[in-house]
Amino acid sequence: MSGKSDVWNHFIKKDLEGTCIYSLQEVKTKRNTTNLRNYLLRRRPRIKTVSQKKKSKSGGSKRDDARNGDGNEQVSET
Ligand SMILES: [Zn+2]
Repeated sequence: MSGKSDVWNHFIKKDLEGTCIYSLQEVKTKRNTTNLRNYLLRRRPRIKTVSQKKKSKSGGSKRDDARNGDGNEQVSET
């Protein structure tokens, strides 16, 4: 870990944008990770980022963790 936000695990960092490693979609960052987080929330909801609130106690389905690999992203982008 280099102290960067964990969203960069899913993006290739560039100067003012990040490239999604799954669909190669470019997302403007404007020097913060808000857009990247929003992108992940929309495109890859199974990915948990640190900013997301953890579901309390029971009710959390373990299916979320079952599919954490790539290749399942619905590319309705571009
Ligand atoms: Zn993507």
